[in-house]
Amino acid sequence: MNVGSVELHAVRDAVGLIATYGEAYPEVPAEAWAPYRELYPDLFDGEHWRLPCGNYLLRSGGTTVLVDTGVGPPGLWDWTALSEGELPEALDELGVARDEIDVVLLTHLHIDHVGWNADLDGVPLFPRARYLVHPDAYTYATAQDTRPHVRRCILTLDDRFERVTGDVELAPGITAFEAPGHYPGHMAVRVESEGARAMLIADVAVHPALLQEPDWPYISDIDGAQTRSTRHALLPELVDHDVLVACGHYPDGGIGRIVRRNGVVVWEAAS
Ligand SMILES: [Zn+2]
Repeated sequence: MNVGSVELHAVRDAVGLIATYGEAYPEVPAEAWAPYRELYPDLFDGEHWRLPCGNYLLRSGGTTVLVDTGVGPPGLWDWTALSEGELPEALDELGVARDEIDVVLLTHLHIDHVGWNADLDGVPLFPRARYLVHPDAYTYATAQDTRPHVRRCILTLDDRFERVTGDVELAPGITAFEAPGHYPGHMAVRVESEGARAMLIADVAVHPALLQEPDWPYISDIDGAQTRSTRHALLPELVDHDVLVACGHYPDGGIGRIVRRNGVVVWEAAS
């Protein structure tokens, strides 16, 4: 897909069952999910949240950017995986060699966003890449230094990380920016090229139901109030505007648009 002269591709990695909806959103009554079961059937498996974990590859001006690196090699995360470990194959299908990645932007350092930073031995998967992360995310993650994914995907790559804050141009037309709340130093990405726009919202609204219900608390938002205010700040520029909105936890690769249908704010995959 193109956003002006910027290429934007979904890069799948994994799908699995995590918590039940009741566990993930304890303050939301089960019946409140009914309309979203109909809108987003791929995200439901009985009472469980069926969670895709995808990433994005962007190319602009000769620079190749990977935004997040997925769950990683199979079998490491304590969830019910339906498929795992697909990112290397997905990059192969796009014809992108690992040494072509110039920049890896880590929107945050949860386990499902850092898994292919390194292989099973802790060797960086992208040998030439700059790995960019917000210092607040880095400090928070590395304080949990006994967690296996922190050791393999973050601590072993310590000398590769560059700390970035504020607005950061990753490539022409591609800018990372702070979208705080879900995780300390959480970042999202704007794309603007030749009048076309896209936003990679990372985990600002980790389920598309939250686009209609931005005040629903999600248990893994580390700062819930800040997450909600970030959602409220970003939604007006996304709903019913000609802007692609991408989230790796949404269905079908997660690239789509946010529109109001019969008074309900919904995310629809772009064709
Ligand atoms: Zn996530």
